[in-house]
Amino acid sequence: MADLSLFDLTGQTALVTGASRGIGQEIAVALARAGADVAITARDAASLAACAELITSLGGTAYPLALDVRDVSQISGAVTAAADRLGGLSILVNNAGVEQVTPSLEVTEAIWDNILDTNLKGAFFCAQAAAKAMTAGGAIINLCSLTTEVGIPTAVPYGSSKTGLLGMTRALAAEWAPLGIRVNAIAPGYFRTAMTEEFYQNEAWQMAMQAKIPMGRFGALADLDGIAVFLASRASAYITGQCFPVDGGFLASI
Ligand code: NDP
Repeated sequence: MADLSLFDLTGQTALVTGASRGIGQEIAVALARAGADVAITARDAASLAACAELITSLGGTAYPLALDVRDVSQISGAVTAAADRLGGLSILVNNAGVEQVTPSLEVTEAIWDNILDTNLKGAFFCAQAAAKAMTAGGAIINLCSLTTEVGIPTAVPYGSSKTGLLGMTRALAAEWAPLGIRVNAIAPGYFRTAMTEEFYQNEAWQMAMQAKIPMGRFGALADLDGIAVFLASRASAYITGQCFPVDGGFLASI
């Protein structure tokens, strides 16, 4: 029989960025369910109340704190505060992300900077601060995307940020393996969240997209729980530098 304690995160301490809703909230709660104490961040700490409540109602420890990942000057202090409060840091989930669908001929520098600063620069400096706090090793999980693998029109800054995040995942994995820090990524397929809601308002888009997904349905947030716990836990102890699509077979079939 498999040793399920491999997946147990009891005694682990995690920081999840962008945990006020959607995928970040789901992953923060999944890590807490598996036993981790979790620092949860978003730009507005008040928006984290629901996530904190979910975690505490499970008997877990949640530490909400404000962090705008575009502002590098905030990052080190926030990560240190989380590590101090939780008694260390062993898991970072770089989930905070934004998208502004725009035809490339209309992309402004402000749009480019907002997306790249949030999705890529912020993730790098969170990883850097977390690695300094991970004195006993750890696991970093970056949220990539299908745009990490395929070119999607009108998503060029976003796709550039997520492809960059894959490069970052691989390079940090190679550099920090001697520190005992593993760095992996999850590439969610199509999940209905605040970020993607505008697409789901379009019935024709839904039908067309669903037809391209071999499993015939969009992702449910709970579909991400297993991979997040796996990558955070000892169960993935010999895996680093990899990106795992969770997409109902979409990438495998195009
Ligand atoms: P949501 O828009 O639902 O949530 C985004 C989260 O990021 C919120 O908590 C938001 O909080 C936070 N955030 C945004 N900007 C910043 C910032 N500058 N600093 C700190 N936190 C910030 O998005 P999703 O849950 O859909 O996406 C989560 C991640 O998953 C993103 O990285 C996204 O690119 C990725 N992803 C999503 C897919 C999907 O289908 N939904 C598919 C593939 C990847 P607040 O605004 O309060 O700061």
